[in-house]
Amino acid sequence: MKRTSAAPRLIPYITQREGEYGGLESELTLSMNAFGAVRLAYHEETPADRGPHGELWARCSQSLNAVGKPTGKPQWRLVNPIRQREAMEQLRCQVGFCPAETDQGYIFLAGAAEGASHRAGEPVTTAQPPVCLEHLRPAIDLCPHLRKGHVAFRARATAPWGVIGTRYRLTATGLEPLPVEDDDAPVAYGHPQLGWFLASQLLRELRDCEVVNLNDLVPAA
Ligand SMILES: [Zn+2]
Repeated sequence: MKRTSAAPRLIPYITQREGEYGGLESELTLSMNAFGAVRLAYHEETPADRGPHGELWARCSQSLNAVGKPTGKPQWRLVNPIRQREAMEQLRCQVGFCPAETDQGYIFLAGAAEGASHRAGEPVTTAQPPVCLEHLRPAIDLCPHLRKGHVAFRARATAPWGVIGTRYRLTATGLEPLPVEDDDAPVAYGHPQLGWFLASQLLRELRDCEVVNLNDLVPAA
């Protein structure tokens, strides 16, 4: 859809901006963890490259202005892995990086399909960081997927569940990502192959969670 509005658009905190680039495949290598298992690694690795379960995180540059806010044209379909992880780890709003806690927990938006799995009694995991009350409506307006149908969850407790990442394998010519159909798979913390994934989004499991009506949270626009 063509965007014709001249007014400055709200751009979610986690949206990738032009000029932000991922790391190079040539930075990747293999190393052995403390238990002798082979895992993906960087040639020049820093503690920031790994998450709390030892998973290796995709590198990505950030275009930030003088006050540390993301700047540059949005790449609407892409999520900056560094900022997604930050918002998800700290449970900050994905739109404005605002504190997202409400007096009854955190609100997470998901596509309509996720609402169906919740009703089927399946646990809900999400890669979408929470949204503060002020940004609930804008978050839906900004996302074509959510505009088609969405559900709002209120979770009183959440826990990091795993990551979305790209799985690598070692071939005769070196490390290479698995073909696209196996790509971008959610992988749980504790998965035996976690060490072969390059993580790009943090997933949380929503616990003690219920579907809530957006109109009860914020007045209709
Ligand atoms: Zn917000």
